[in-house]
Amino acid sequence: MRVLVFSHYLDLAGELISAGMGVGEVSLLLTSDQKDKLAQVRGARRAIVCDSISSDDQAALIDLLTEVTRDHDLLVLSSDKRARELAGQVAQMLERPIATEVSSMRSEEGKLVVERMTLGGKAIAVEELPLPAIVTVQKGKFKPPEGPSVQEVVEVKLGGATRRYEVVERRAKPKLGIPLDKAEVVIAVGRGFRRKEDLKLAYELAETLGGVVGCTRPLAADLKWMPEESWIGISGVRISPKLLLVIGASGQQQFSAGIMDSKVIVAINNDPQAPIFENSDYGVVRDLYEFLPALVERLRR
Ligand SMILES: Cc1cc2nc3c(=O)[nH]c(=O)nc-3n(C[C@H](O)[C@H](O)[C@H](O)COP(=O)(O)OP(=O)(O)OC[C@H]3O[C@@H](n4cnc5c(N)ncnc54)[C@H](O)[C@@H]3O)c2cc1C
Repeated sequence: MRVLVFSHYLDLAGELISAGMGVGEVSLLLTSDQKDKLAQVRGARRAIVCDSISSDDQAALIDLLTEVTRDHDLLVLSSDKRARELAGQVAQMLERPIATEVSSMRSEEGKLVVERMTLGGKAIAVEELPLPAIVTVQKGKFKPPEGPSVQEVVEVKLGGATRRYEVVERRAKPKLGIPLDKAEVVIAVGRGFRRKEDLKLAYELAETLGGVVGCTRPLAADLKWMPEESWIGISGVRISPKLLLVIGASGQQQFSAGIMDSKVIVAINNDPQAPIFENSDYGVVRDLYEFLPALVERLRR
């Protein structure tokens, strides 16, 4: 099976190559800004280099991937936002089936059999995709390969594709500091906070512990109290800190699916029946408005 891999982030490409190697021979697509790092790539047999397009140019990437994917049975992408957008667009252009957030895959009788989380992380769905197909792979499920470096380099040009998208403006997003998925200490806040201003309690705690503040979906998506990239869960960021404090969040499945790789989870909630306690190592049944100031004061002493 001919497998094509692309990632905006080359440090993720190893996981994708490893996923692809399990079902076929892998070619890695590299853009102009990535080609210098070719020597770092392991496991892919071929590198397909497009010198005229940068990985920042999402519109051109859609065209490029659509063209190059035509010659492959399977396109493997990561599950971050930009890659998911590419996956959907290319699937539509080529009318190919797609499976997202895949945690394992194998080829069986000319089909691709994938496993992916379903029902908010409570169950694993096993799905069959006719080939050719497209998948996005869940982060952290495949170990980057140690195999040989690339044996063949092929250059491609983007020719004749019609641009359906045009970038009209670029605006830099405010930086959050350490990204949530790399932080060792995370403070996750939920709707137990009554006002946006009250989040300062969580930020004070984060400062004291050297951590990063994340949130449940309603705080970012509905209330807009925090930036979108702060939301943790099945449709947000999956985190794996050494210490996670979940404060005023109920711990619904969709949130909890994003925290299960955390080493130690401490929940603070005034409802002893809150589901978050089922997934916590330590639980504190208290009003956060009483508990947090006292905790910060004690930690600062
Ligand atoms: C398709 C889909 C995808 C979703 N994806 C995500 C996702 O990725 N991430 C996500 O977070 N959600 C996601 N959701 C939403 C999810 O189902 C929950 O609605 C959400 O996680 C609840 O957020 P919360 O815990 O902040 O709010 P609530 O469920 O309202 O919980 C608030 C908690 O705060 C506690 N509390 C209240 N006052 C205090 C106080 N003074 N002191 C201490 N505790 C207090 C309450 O006891 C309660 O447990 C998704 C939903 C759908 C349908």
